[in-house]
Amino acid sequence: MELLKQKIRNEGMVLSETVLKVDSFLNHQIDPNLMNEVGQEFAHLFKNDGITKVLTIESSGIAPGLMAAFHLNVPVIFARKRKSLTLMNDLLTASVHSFTKQETTEISVSKQYIGKGDRILIIDDFLANGQAAFGLIDIVLATQAEVTGIGIVIEKAFQSGGQQLRDSGYRVESLARIKSLKNKQVQFIEETGAAVK
Ligand code: 5GP
Repeated sequence: MELLKQKIRNEGMVLSETVLKVDSFLNHQIDPNLMNEVGQEFAHLFKNDGITKVLTIESSGIAPGLMAAFHLNVPVIFARKRKSLTLMNDLLTASVHSFTKQETTEISVSKQYIGKGDRILIIDDFLANGQAAFGLIDIVLATQAEVTGIGIVIEKAFQSGGQQLRDSGYRVESLARIKSLKNKQVQFIEETGAAVK
């Protein structure tokens, strides 16, 4: 998705060889026009798959997840990372080790919202080692619903998550695939490097 790649080139900050900061449009401030286009692209990619619900994880998955759900005209559910007084019983849970925070959290979704007949599209902002995606898959597999596909805004293809998910038989669609973050450069797959701040 060219617009997304341009945003990454212009505003992305390479913090290390493995971490890209995109706080100006995705992870802190959110660009609603870009998110709208991201949602449209996911909806286009999965339009023939009979998606009934989008599943994402708080907090940075919510914006792209919501826009994908909007364009697919289905609800979006976000897995919560903290227990809440309003989310106590009948929970589906999974353990997720966060790549950026280097801590393990238990994520939860109410059993009320995923069930038999659901065809779930999992959406997340980044794909690194696949922990978040596999956690969300575990949640869906604990129900009688099906994981129909996985949509990722930015995949760091030099990390193992994408390969593991595809090897496990899941369809993964990433709107930008990064080959390398070496030398403070974002290099997209099948493209030459572009310097970023
Ligand atoms: P994974 O679970 O695939 O190892 O990592 C994906 C999760 O970690 C995403 O939900 C995202 O929040 C965070 N993440 C992983 N890598 C990056 C990165 O380079 N930049 C940012 N901003 N978040 C990342």
